[in-house]
Amino acid sequence: MSSSPRVDVDGVSVSPDHFINGERVASACTFEDRSPLDWTWKLADVARGGALEADLAVGAALAAFPAWSALSTSERGAYLERLATLIDRDVERIAHVECLDMAMLEESLRLRVIARGARNFRAYAQLARDYQARRWSSNGTENTVLRMPAGPTIVITPWNAPFMLSTWKCAPALAAGNTVVLKPAEWSPLSCSLLMDLVSEAAFPPGVVNVVQGLGEEVGTALVNDPRVRRISFTGSPETGRVIGEAAAKNLVPFTAELGGKGPFIVFADADLDAAAQKAAVMYDDGGQVCLAGTRLLVEESVRERFVELFEAATKRHQLGDSRDPATTVSPLIHPEHLARVEGFVERARANGDTVVFGGHVEREGGLWYRPTLIEPRSNDSEVVQREVFGPVLTLQTFTDEDDAVRLANSTRYGLSAIVYTSSGPRALRLGERLRAGTIWVNCFLVRDLTAPFGGTGISGIGREGGDYALDFYSDLKTLQIKEGTTHG
Ligand code: NAD
Repeated sequence: MSSSPRVDVDGVSVSPDHFINGERVASACTFEDRSPLDWTWKLADVARGGALEADLAVGAALAAFPAWSALSTSERGAYLERLATLIDRDVERIAHVECLDMAMLEESLRLRVIARGARNFRAYAQLARDYQARRWSSNGTENTVLRMPAGPTIVITPWNAPFMLSTWKCAPALAAGNTVVLKPAEWSPLSCSLLMDLVSEAAFPPGVVNVVQGLGEEVGTALVNDPRVRRISFTGSPETGRVIGEAAAKNLVPFTAELGGKGPFIVFADADLDAAAQKAAVMYDDGGQVCLAGTRLLVEESVRERFVELFEAATKRHQLGDSRDPATTVSPLIHPEHLARVEGFVERARANGDTVVFGGHVEREGGLWYRPTLIEPRSNDSEVVQREVFGPVLTLQTFTDEDDAVRLANSTRYGLSAIVYTSSGPRALRLGERLRAGTIWVNCFLVRDLTAPFGGTGISGIGREGGDYALDFYSDLKTLQIKEGTTHG
């Protein structure tokens, strides 16, 4: 099978090809990958897979499955740990390429996000080894719950934080004994290609981990409809989640979906208002392209004025600029189409009679930066309150008391995350019970323990990943029942 020459991406050599059965594979067609930092900068012509490449990759994953699934958790863990070490070694180059490819701030990629990929592999290597089968006696039998590797697994990821989100899914799938075909998003395909260089260097057996590049409607559709697939794990928009869910249902394949968010950011009068305002301003970082962000500011009426003053001051620290520059805090949006989508939300809000308090425009002609924007909606039904924008656009509403705060917080169809600022411990616990969201942060944001369940309610997702929840999802659980008195040995 032929492969293409590697591409020099600002000093880092990247393959624009697929990685199937341990080899680089080119396609007859390619698609252009451009940098959001400068849209005239073409980074690579990337292989554009279709039904043929999907078939090859799933075939390779199926062929590799018996041997990989027969290894012990310790043997598989050794591969995962080798990969983690190589990621740590290459953090700088992966961060640089991902910054050019999708414009997340390079410093945060370097210091946190890419290294989290290594942590994902280490954590799941250990968790799979530590599995304690549940055992108990009942009805005259000894019962044991065993995990059985499920089979070839499709992992489909979005363009924001593609490396970290892909490793978050590949690590538990591989640790559980499954083989993987990963399809990264077509707007930021390069860092997952670098991951495959490391998979190769870590000497994973051919076919255990594969990457196919291409468009969702083409190669993505072919992958999720392949009847040989035994798990599908998806992160992306609710619209695509529905389409993939239909394919999973058709083939009776277990499916998890981590989808969009429209999280509330609730500020009570008893909170440290300055800390709350500083954290609320963080929602504009990375151009607001963060699914977990609290984009609906809900502020107790009595402190509205003070909070808005502090919040406006905190947003003044933001610097729009090149994501490679450590002074930059707001990166450009990923793609001109996405910029137009964000602009569309703000234009429709204006037409609807919502008030743009600040921002509400593109930073400069030709660039993809959008000004941090705050909107006071006319009503809770306004589109900008009810739908995910996925850009630097927050809304501001007030509430009268705790019941009112909970009512507003739970009033969208999403349920991915919620952020609460209060100094009251009992209130924190009450809100934890009453808010409908997969993750609730009180007086903090983005703190994650990898063993905790992660996912969304409503249209924010189906199923949970994280810790043993993920290992259970990627396994078929079975119950072994042995009649008491059956001699051992
Ligand atoms: P998207 O749904 O457009 O695309 C996601 C992936 O699905 C891409 O790889 C795409 O190629 C693929 N795809 C598209 N159509 C497909 C099809 N018919 N069959 C198979 N695959 C297909 O999402 P996006 O624009 O890349 O990402 C942004 C969305 O992701 C936002 O809604 C954001 O909130 C969400 N997101 C959620 C989380 C989470 O953890 N819940 C994390 C990051 C992003």
